Amino acid sequence: MPVYETEAVVLRQYPLSDSDRIIVFVTREHGKVRAVAQGVKKLKSGMAGSLEPLNHIRFEFWTREGRDLAQIRRAELIHSFLGRQTDLKQICGFSYFAEMVHEVVQDNQPNQALFRLLLAALKAGEEHGVRVSLVRYFEIWCLKLSGLLPNYAYCSNCGKCVKDEGFFAWLEAGQARCSECAQGRGLQVRASGARILDVMMRQPPGRFAVQPLETEASVDIERLSQKLLGLYLEKQLKSYRILKEALQGQ
Ligand SMILES: [Zn+2]
Repeated sequence: MPVYETEAVVLRQYPLSDSDRIIVFVTREHGKVRAVAQGVKKLKSGMAGSLEPLNHIRFEFWTREGRDLAQIRRAELIHSFLGRQTDLKQICGFSYFAEMVHEVVQDNQPNQALFRLLLAALKAGEEHGVRVSLVRYFEIWCLKLSGLLPNYAYCSNCGKCVKDEGFFAWLEAGQARCSECAQGRGLQVRASGARILDVMMRQPPGRFAVQPLETEASVDIERLSQKLLGLYLEKQLKSYRILKEALQGQ
């Protein structure tokens, strides 16, 4: 039976029975992995503690052929992002990131770039706090790295560059249209939002997340990413509403 060793972030855990739990991880090399933690209460305290949500860990697991659930052999904590965290925005923001990754990453399908994005966003949030700019950045990049973000730099009809003047997103068609070609149809992203989208593509999260984000740009980008996510997932993430409330008054 092959044993795999990988870095992972714990996305969630839920009970399987009185003493066993299912832990869902996103791993660097194997995509999403579901594993059974047997007798969590009896596990050596170090191992049980390392399986808490939003922990960055190194872990070893093995699977039996034909079984969906892996078995955890060893788990070692690298860093706990929620450990002593009491800031509501951070707790809600990190939970939102975890839920989004849980939904977009497939079982056993590696997406190393998305794994790196999650770690970088958690680090940025820990260092600078969870702000609207970080949340918008994470949503857009999560979509992009999952192949769900169309190219919004050019009008897909006439080829005009729309990075400075804004565009209309034709969501189902996965296209951007300039104002002439859209003729009022589609979801509008005004000039400020289009420019910010372009900046997001060129900056790492730690840099983007410390900058204030204009309300107009934030509103347009939020609407766009929520529509794209909704189209793909056919639902809204549970943690989204809670995070939105926590971020209000920022
Ligand atoms: Zn056009």
